[in-house]
Amino acid sequence: MSTFKDLGLKSEIIQALTDLGYEKPTEIQEKAIPQVIASDQDLKAFAQTGTGKTAAFSLPILQKLDLDSNQVQAIILSPTRELAIQIARNIEEFSTHLKGFRVAAVYGGSDINGQIRSLNKGVQIVVGTPGRTVDLIKRRKLKLDSVKWLVLDEADEMLNMGFKDELDQVLQVTPDTKQTLLFSATFPKEVDRIARNYMNDPAQIDAGKRNSSTNNVSHEYYVVTDRNRYPALKRIADINPDIYGIIFCRTRRETQEVADKLIQDGYSADSLHGELSQAQRDMVMQKFRKKTLQILVATDVAARGLDVDSLTHVINYKLPDQVESYTHRSGRTGRANSTGISIAIVSPGERRKLGPIERIIGKKFVQMQVPDGKEICKKQLLKLVDKVNDFEVNESQISEYLPTIQEKLEGLDRDELIKRFVSIEFNSFLSYYENANDLNSTSKDRGRERETNGRQRNDENMSRFFINIGRKDKLNPARLIGLINEQNIAKNIEIGQIEILDTFSFFELDKNFESETLAAFTRDSDISFEGRGVNVEKTEKKRAGSGGGRKSSGGGRNHRGRSGDDEGRRSKPSGDSGSSKSFNKGGFGRDRNKGGRRGN
Ligand code: AMP
Repeated sequence: MSTFKDLGLKSEIIQALTDLGYEKPTEIQEKAIPQVIASDQDLKAFAQTGTGKTAAFSLPILQKLDLDSNQVQAIILSPTRELAIQIARNIEEFSTHLKGFRVAAVYGGSDINGQIRSLNKGVQIVVGTPGRTVDLIKRRKLKLDSVKWLVLDEADEMLNMGFKDELDQVLQVTPDTKQTLLFSATFPKEVDRIARNYMNDPAQIDAGKRNSSTNNVSHEYYVVTDRNRYPALKRIADINPDIYGIIFCRTRRETQEVADKLIQDGYSADSLHGELSQAQRDMVMQKFRKKTLQILVATDVAARGLDVDSLTHVINYKLPDQVESYTHRSGRTGRANSTGISIAIVSPGERRKLGPIERIIGKKFVQMQVPDGKEICKKQLLKLVDKVNDFEVNESQISEYLPTIQEKLEGLDRDELIKRFVSIEFNSFLSYYENANDLNSTSKDRGRERETNGRQRNDENMSRFFINIGRKDKLNPARLIGLINEQNIAKNIEIGQIEILDTFSFFELDKNFESETLAAFTRDSDISFEGRGVNVEKTEKKRAGSGGGRKSSGGGRNHRGRSGDDEGRRSKPSGDSGSSKSFNKGGFGRDRNKGGRRGN
């Protein structure tokens, strides 16, 4: 294995890499750096996220740049704003000892004038998203006629995201003499077209097997029914108290829902998806990078460009449609010489999706059993004990209280003391997992899954809404159902629990129609009931049982209460909260309200 010095890099760059703690080049760096330093030949590189490809293309460019010129000499295109910022930040780090060097990042969703001002200062490298780059070229604020290097990073993603025209436009305005470096994790037809049309006899390098996952990642799967998917996720988090991971969901809505539930259940989690504002996304990413957050629930696109090395887990809450997306997801762990685990939670029917993935990654998934309550409690307990062991006591602060404490605890021996302290921290955890069910799917579940034909009628599939009218407005369940039906939300929409209170009420509807429900009630701002304007808002699900306030030391939980999935409390129907008293007073039995009612 060579060193960065062996690759021919100059001392200023090597110094920066040493400052960053890079000890030896990664495979892609070992292959690409000497090639680009030695030759002007175009380059096609198969490389995945997390392989160190940013340094692979930017170090040789930094090595060869003319630092005396203020012209843009390299343009690097990347699919997302986050990735562009990340690349520019990395380049800044690599160039700390290069005097007179400047890089600028240009991307959409941010003030263009500020970006123009940084370009006007004179920069040698521009990192940009395709749309903003073309915009700046058209405004004649970005001149690419002196460009010697064009880098297309994650070319497949740029094309997936619909940047074909923008890529063509940038490729056309850059000089023919430039060297084009194309990095892509996959080479579908469209990427090949770019390579064929715009590259001259490119050299080809391949860091590892195409599309394969790194050797540092192990792949595991759990089989559970759809209903148990979320409880299983929680157990996976609980059995891994030090988890630092990304949970991938397929849609923005699912992402938000899973994140909301985890937050409500006391985990240190947040969501990242395209519906959040840029400022919100930046904040979440910052918290995650700093590890203030242990769990990030994200869509594939939003998680791109989030550059974090030390992820312990990637969890596929639902598998993606495309095998390539799986390799992208799993490639976010096991990065830069560390190891990681990529987990797929699959329903019995989704199991068949694993085979095609195994063929591409060249590795087998290992089936795991969703841990039972006992295993989790043991793990969490040991974690707590380790925490006690490692905890640094602030002697000066505590010393003045010690005599009083000693006096009060005088009658308790060591064993008794230990038991009590541990119980304070741990009892709610134990009771949560007491009687916890086996969540692993059996062959029977498969049959049942087929029978129920997808959507099951249970609380997991319902969203709960607040409505600002109640008994005082002469509302009763039948009239509420009538009012819901009048809004024509969807045919045969399923209505769940209804709770009529004095001045307001709650109802549950099929969560697949959550946005339609909100839209229906806001579409016509004149909806009124007994002379009162009607307002409907989404609200939290009712909690199953009490259970809040559990403080645990791990599993990504941040010392908050939790809401109820029905883990470990089968005897109590979920949705049995304190408000049921007034609910029953309303004269509509809870059990009769549960399930089976249909609108329209
Ligand atoms: P990239 O694939 O460029 O996004 O890099 C993935 C991560 O690996 C980044 O956080 C880099 O800082 C880190 N990295 C890249 N090359 C090395 C290296 N040679 N040694 C250690 N870390 C590296």
